Amino acid sequence: MRETDKELKACAARLKLTFIRDNLEDLLKSATENKMTVREALAFLFGEEIRRRNANRCSLWMSGAHFPVIKELRDFDLTFQPSIDPGLFREMCSLEWVGNGENVVLVGPPGVGKTHLAIGLGVSAVRAGMTVRFFSAKDLIEVLSKAYSEGVFENKLKEINKSRLLIIDELGYTPLSPVQTQLLYHLVALRYEKKSVIVTSNRPAGQWELFMGDKAASNAILDRLLHHCTAIAIKGESYRIHEGRMRKFKKTKAKEVGAENTQTS
Ligand code: ADP
Ligand code: MG
Repeated sequence: MRETDKELKACAARLKLTFIRDNLEDLLKSATENKMTVREALAFLFGEEIRRRNANRCSLWMSGAHFPVIKELRDFDLTFQPSIDPGLFREMCSLEWVGNGENVVLVGPPGVGKTHLAIGLGVSAVRAGMTVRFFSAKDLIEVLSKAYSEGVFENKLKEINKSRLLIIDELGYTPLSPVQTQLLYHLVALRYEKKSVIVTSNRPAGQWELFMGDKAASNAILDRLLHHCTAIAIKGESYRIHEGRMRKFKKTKAKEVGAENTQTS
């Protein structure tokens, strides 16, 4: 290794430019081969360092979000759910609302893509440089209740509240006690008009008080969540059932074609 390369590596290490430090020879080779000017070479080196940092940060935040699976917004077939207004969908996908501390509430029967959309929005938000935390409603309530009983509720609230976007998935399947409803209220109130929340639920908002043990807290939750909010009621058919039917259809078709082939051969 040339003496100047050693010095450059030491400088990169000192400045914590780890990608440049570890890939200096290759980067310089590429700059030389592409006959870059000094300015171009500097822009290239710094650009590569930033690109790698962003990629590292993105994968760190992606695992920190605790998504149960990765779903992409681009894989969501909007034509299958005509009850979702395409304009509203595009606005939701723009994530502008996260910047404004607004919320998204997705309600509808099982299988219509509520969790897919919530995760898809979360994944896009991480890629756009935002921190996200995904919870199933059941897990979130358990975490809050445990912290409350151990006397560390405030700390837990602060910890959960750090994420730019909080996703609460499948609210409504598990009934909440009065205390659990109040704990959830504290979290929603803390984020109100500051940090965004996505809630998915199998029940329309008007029915939430039926599974929330404290009516006043339930109303207060709804009030804050819905104040600055994109609320979408998905009314369509279950995609799971649709997929199951398509699989069956394809199998039958394959059998028919197989039978035809044996007849003609
Ligand atoms: P929900 O949360 O409403 O019960 P999910 O989001 O879990 O439904 O969707 C069930 C399955 O169907 C998932 O694998 C999801 O990716 C898929 N899915 C649902 N709706 C769509 C859609 N419109 N386009 C593509 N895949 C979909
Ligand atoms: Mg779901």
